[in-house]
Amino acid sequence: MKWLFTFAAALVLTMSGCETTSANLPKGSGQTAPCEVCRYHHDLACLNVDVDASTPRTVYEGTTYYFCSDSCKASFIKQPTKYLTAAKRQ
Ligand SMILES: [Zn+2]
Repeated sequence: MKWLFTFAAALVLTMSGCETTSANLPKGSGQTAPCEVCRYHHDLACLNVDVDASTPRTVYEGTTYYFCSDSCKASFIKQPTKYLTAAKRQ
């Protein structure tokens, strides 16, 4: 039965390109944070990340940043200044 879930998850990812599920999920802390990587790319569909215990995150210069997916996190870690410079400019 586990394969079914994996397949469904892969299908969702393929279709949306973003691991963030619906922004109006009833459960969760209700806390959101911007994904700096998606903001940089103007990917508004997954700009707001629902923050919970499993949200990908990293600490950079004393600030915690949250991401919609591990791939966004990896991109950020590679070039944090690239994304933060863009964010500050706005
Ligand atoms: Zn993202």
